[in-house]
Amino acid sequence: MEKYKDIGLKLTPQRLAILDYLDGNKEHPSAEDIYKAVSKRFPTMSFATVYNTLETLRQKGGVLELTIDPAKKRFDPNTEPHHHLICVGCKKILDIHGSYRLPLPDEKREGFELIGNHIEFYGLCPKCKKGR
Ligand SMILES: [Zn+2]
Ligand SMILES: [Zn+2]
Repeated sequence: MEKYKDIGLKLTPQRLAILDYLDGNKEHPSAEDIYKAVSKRFPTMSFATVYNTLETLRQKGGVLELTIDPAKKRFDPNTEPHHHLICVGCKKILDIHGSYRLPLPDEKREGFELIGNHIEFYGLCPKCKKGR
């Protein structure tokens, strides 16, 4: 929660509830998931409030937008560099910490100075594997 204080977001009770839901959340929720969870406490809250709060957070670096799931954007409050393990069955996304050395040959760098990478590992989680 501390990290959100510097973001300069006007903290209304609804926004605080959204931040509270995101804080330490490892589920990589979509805007719809967040809306569903937070509107239990704030039934009058609109989906636009969730969406706009996420957009502001994203612009200020408080949350990462993941484009892993083509059906819906997923959000990641963990802004430290990390990788993802994705179940193609249930779309569960898990964090993987640790750095992978992926050498990118000079001729493929197009003159870029590299600052990081993001690896997406795809597969079936144990539950989905069993259900096949
Ligand atoms: Zn699965
Ligand atoms: Zn993540």
